[in-house]
Amino acid sequence: MNAEVEQDRKVLTPILALRDVVVFPGMVVPLFVGREKSVKALEFAMKHNLPVILVAQKDPQNDDPDVDDVYPVGTLSAILQMVKLPDGTHKVLIEGGERVRLQRFYADSFLHALDYDPLKETLGASETAANVLAKALREQFEQYVKRNKKVPRELLNTIANIDDFGRLADTIVAHLSVALPEKQKILEITDVAERMEAVLAQIESELELMEMEKKIRGRVKNQMEKSQREYYLNEQIKAIQKELTELDESNDDFSELEKQLAELPLSEAARKKVDSELKKLKMMPPMSAEASVVRNYLETLAALPWGKRKEIHKDLAYARQILDEDHYGLEEVKERILEYLAVQQRMDKIRGPILCLVGPPGVGKTSLGKSIAKATNRDFVRMSLGGVRDEAEIRGHRRTYIGSMPGRIIQNIQKAGSSNPLMVLDELDKMSADFRGDPASALLEVLDPEQNSAFNDHYLEIDFDLSEVMFVATANSLNIPGPLRDRMEIITLPGYTEQEKIQIAQRYLVPKQMKNAGLKKSELKISETAIRDIIRYYTREAGVRNLERAISRICRKTVKQILTGAVDGKVSVTAKNLKDYLGVKPFRFGLAEKQDEVGTVTGLAWTEVGGDLLQIEASVLEGTGKQVLTGHLGDVMKESIQAAMSVVRARRHALGIRPEVFQKTDIHVHVPEGATPKDGPSAGIAMCTALVSALTNNPVRADVAMTGEITLRGKVLEIGGLKEKLLAALRGGIKTVLIPADNTKDLEKMPEQILQGIEIIPVKTIDEVLKIALKKPLKALESEEILPVIAASEKITKAKGAGSVSH
Ligand code: ADP
Repeated sequence: MNAEVEQDRKVLTPILALRDVVVFPGMVVPLFVGREKSVKALEFAMKHNLPVILVAQKDPQNDDPDVDDVYPVGTLSAILQMVKLPDGTHKVLIEGGERVRLQRFYADSFLHALDYDPLKETLGASETAANVLAKALREQFEQYVKRNKKVPRELLNTIANIDDFGRLADTIVAHLSVALPEKQKILEITDVAERMEAVLAQIESELELMEMEKKIRGRVKNQMEKSQREYYLNEQIKAIQKELTELDESNDDFSELEKQLAELPLSEAARKKVDSELKKLKMMPPMSAEASVVRNYLETLAALPWGKRKEIHKDLAYARQILDEDHYGLEEVKERILEYLAVQQRMDKIRGPILCLVGPPGVGKTSLGKSIAKATNRDFVRMSLGGVRDEAEIRGHRRTYIGSMPGRIIQNIQKAGSSNPLMVLDELDKMSADFRGDPASALLEVLDPEQNSAFNDHYLEIDFDLSEVMFVATANSLNIPGPLRDRMEIITLPGYTEQEKIQIAQRYLVPKQMKNAGLKKSELKISETAIRDIIRYYTREAGVRNLERAISRICRKTVKQILTGAVDGKVSVTAKNLKDYLGVKPFRFGLAEKQDEVGTVTGLAWTEVGGDLLQIEASVLEGTGKQVLTGHLGDVMKESIQAAMSVVRARRHALGIRPEVFQKTDIHVHVPEGATPKDGPSAGIAMCTALVSALTNNPVRADVAMTGEITLRGKVLEIGGLKEKLLAALRGGIKTVLIPADNTKDLEKMPEQILQGIEIIPVKTIDEVLKIALKKPLKALESEEILPVIAASEKITKAKGAGSVSH
């Protein structure tokens, strides 16, 4: 080829702009050519049997690249083959040739190179260094091929056979998935060592990338597998559940429950808990035991009155009205309840002590609680603490227990249906502690306004606010655990007199029970005498519970009589026909059948069910100076007997008891009447009287009862529960009651009926007691017989020795 032609060719050499490939020398690449300009360039080259210069486009998106849009370095390449495809595009097989740099080129119908320079390669390093580089390059490429499945393995053979460093680098780089600008840069490097280094760096970064990719892919795969497995299992569960629900429709209310829960005004912590439990429940097969546990739990939660308050009435006049409407008498109690309500009203939260109503059964403690609830417009719930000995009864069992439930507090809140009910804590004094923890301390927490705004039930796990609950406690005795008692404002209800009971019966109990039985006013009449007899002969109580029961029995009988036609629509119950309704009288009243007896004294006892009469019997038997005590006596009672004995001995002379009597006789003290717990010191004077009566064979007046502690010197000491005891005396038909002089102050508060019904005599010493209670006056021993006890016994011994007894 002459220089001119050479020049022409140069002039005419067409340029083919490639979108996304850099063709390196020695590479054979198939190209699909569709752009008109490119096709023209190729056709021109074919026609004139010219090579083409392959250059890469700077921007692959550019459809009509101009001179500035292509890289100026490319390869002068030969077209090996060109096939026109049916869709008008061309498939060309081209082999990359030497590197050229375009000097001058222009675009018309296609790009033309006016002038270009072949780029001369240099080694740029020592042969050894290049060899080392080439070796590293081969090794790394081998690694690359191993990991990259897209690169054909045979390439390694080809690489092994390439000795030329430049070609080696070019061949390798052509197969790396390197970004086009990077490839272009490498294409432009004429220093072979430098090019090898650049390629090596590319491989290494590729390898690193692949390594990282592998790690990430591994991790992603793991996660994918996990979540896929979960998904799969969930789908399976769902499918099974669906099958099951088709059998069992119970699943329907699941969404109902979910809806209910969603509407509750829960705290954030509670909401979280609920959501997680709901999620758990969804995953469980609905028929499983676990599901029913979770479901129960959620249903319990949903059923609680979260933030559901009742509007509280604060009108004291209204409260007074309600209390009066529901209860007869009890003036002092009502007054104190109103004071209490007045104070509560002044505070926005319930603070301060808890009302505690103390008294025997049936005196209206619970029903007062109900009235307070009514008066303040609170819901009423009652919770009995009797026999509660386990903390868990208050606080609930953790859900890990089978059949666990919330504690009674929460159960009752649920029952109440609002978050500010009035809760009566019944039988506070009947609570006990055992190894399972002290319920009293749990209760203390419930009642403490500092703590109860976040009451934690073990079952519930989320806090419930009890601070707006009004607690009212009741108890039969003051035997309440110390710390609890400190929190209480105690109001005592000692019991009713007969007159009060009659009033209560006529005004409240009879109408109430008639209504309960569905009787009309005209259908039943119970006369006052009948009521009095019910009180006297069919009940023996401080309160009116049994009275109410008896009345309800009469009502039921009446209904039956009317329905069966036994009577003509009207029943009148009087003292006479009472027996037909209530059967035989279980009790006797008064002293009709009672006679004055030696050694038998009526004491008065205080018990949890109100005051009670207490018979004390003493008898003297021949013996050796022993004391026999029977009748399940408590320790205090036993000591009381010992003390009484000492008192008697100390004043035997004045009492006219001969000294030897104590040696020659056994004294038997018995306190019958099994049901009354027999302990407490207040039987001291009664005991003493019984002993003296027995020892002196002097009968005791049957219509006298007594109560009082005694000192060794015979002084009578103050006692408690006077009102209850006097009420019992009144019930028992006692005429005269001896009380300690120190208790005189209590008489001021006694109801009229008591003061009028019994003669109350305050006494200071046992001598006064004996003077009143014993039938016959006491006769002191004669003066010559005043001998020390020891001397007296000597005399007896002597007399015995003489073979005769001197008295
Ligand atoms: P407690 O709780 O003290 O054992 P309750 O409150 O159960 O007694 O009372 C028993 C019954 O006697 C109830 O029906 C109650 O209404 C009635 N009751 C008690 N005291 C009175 C009273 N003062 N006036 C009217 N009813 C009374």
